[in-house]
Amino acid sequence: MHRMRRSLWLKLMGAFALIITAGVAVTFMVVYVATATKFERFTRASDLLEAQNLADALTAYYARQGSWDGVDRLLSSTAFSFSNADALDGESMEWSMMGGMMMGGDMMMEMMRQTGYGMDRVVLADAEGVVIADTTGELVGQQHPEEHLARGEPVVVNGQRVGTVLVGSMVEPVLNPLDADFLRSVNLAMLLGATAGGFLALVLGSLLFFQITKPVGEVTAAAEAVAAGDLSRRVDVHSEDEVGRLAAAFNIMADTLEQQEALRKAMVSDIAHELRTPLSLIQGNLEAILDGYYELSPENIEAIHGDTVVMTRLVNDLRVLAVAEAGQLTLEWEAVDMAELARRVVDRFSSQAAERKVALHVEIEPSIPPVRGDAQRLTQVLNNLLSNALRHTPAGGAITLSVRVQDGGNKKRNVLVSVTDSGEGIAADALPHVFERFYRVDRSRSRASGGTGLGLPIARQLVEAHGGRIWAESAGPGEGSVFSFTLPAA
Ligand code: ADP
Repeated sequence: MHRMRRSLWLKLMGAFALIITAGVAVTFMVVYVATATKFERFTRASDLLEAQNLADALTAYYARQGSWDGVDRLLSSTAFSFSNADALDGESMEWSMMGGMMMGGDMMMEMMRQTGYGMDRVVLADAEGVVIADTTGELVGQQHPEEHLARGEPVVVNGQRVGTVLVGSMVEPVLNPLDADFLRSVNLAMLLGATAGGFLALVLGSLLFFQITKPVGEVTAAAEAVAAGDLSRRVDVHSEDEVGRLAAAFNIMADTLEQQEALRKAMVSDIAHELRTPLSLIQGNLEAILDGYYELSPENIEAIHGDTVVMTRLVNDLRVLAVAEAGQLTLEWEAVDMAELARRVVDRFSSQAAERKVALHVEIEPSIPPVRGDAQRLTQVLNNLLSNALRHTPAGGAITLSVRVQDGGNKKRNVLVSVTDSGEGIAADALPHVFERFYRVDRSRSRASGGTGLGLPIARQLVEAHGGRIWAESAGPGEGSVFSFTLPAA
């Protein structure tokens, strides 16, 4: 059981872990690429804007100065004053002020405000492409490559291109070390977050899966116990979901199995018991003959033969009952006239009744509708009821077989057949049991008179196979009995 549950749980966890990993990986990839692309686009756009603003300011500067003189100092000092605003020293302050004086304070302030200038590298090349200012100082005096210049923003004064200004990503990789570091830390945080989230989901998932697989494990354990022979084992799961329904169905199944098993055991012991009685009689008689106590006379053999007849009948009855109980009785369906059938059966019993000095009557209502059924099986029902009545009615008594029509409700009609005797009757406490297999009110007497204890159970199975109902009534011992059954009219 534990093996099963753990394995189901493990499978679910494995699948879940795979899904989480795939989810985290895909999310991370998508966000990573998207962030990098967006970041690059944003950097390029802001650099372009900055370059445009700077170009405007520089145009004004050139127009005023007539040359680029002093512009390098302006660029580097303003850049410095912005990026290290907290740590201004006297010299840079001076540069700053000088730049301010050169450009005119308002104009410089305006330029700074518009461009956010100061964070990015700025390179200014003159009309020939030679770098005259670079905030890092690195490229000053060098000829700038043509393809870089093409990316820059031209500074035009009076229709003449006097220089090119390049900002940030136009001269260096999009991600400067600071940007790259920032992106890296964003990515790392994202990865850490996703991993922590995934881990949390796994922990919660494992608890959840345990909740789900636990009842499955219980059902499995119970099924294994029942399979191993413990039919009393039940499952204690009461949820409304599929597992709950499985458990409920399992419990019902186990109940049925247990009942069937009890019935089977009872039946086997009943049958063994019933067979043992005639068998031991036969054996005892044969041994007496062998030992010379009994004579090997036709009378003694007749007695033994009688016991074998009882055994044969018992075995035949058992077979019919087993087939009927299994619902495998094959009936030869036809329209049966119960009035006609009753007359014939009574005819056959008349000599037996006369022998026992019991009056046998038949009362049949006019125009009995036919029933749908198997004439041979219905004859057997009547035989069983009549032979019981004969067996339990002493000399001087009377037996009446009646056939009537009865309102079956719902515009349907039933044919009601009753066998009434004036015999020994049945006590109220025995009445509910007379249709049970091997039940006898008086065991020894019934067996001695040749009964198998299966006559009424068989009659009930046959009547029910015809869609009918059978029952017994008696006012008590000595008051006679009435056995009745109904069949739906065709
Ligand atoms: P059996 O072979 O013993 O007659 P049945 O199943 O036919 O078996 O009947 C079961 C028991 O019901 C009988 O043993 C008897 O005690 C009782 N019984 C059946 N029919 C009658 C009857 N007409 N009057 C009194 N008791 C009856």
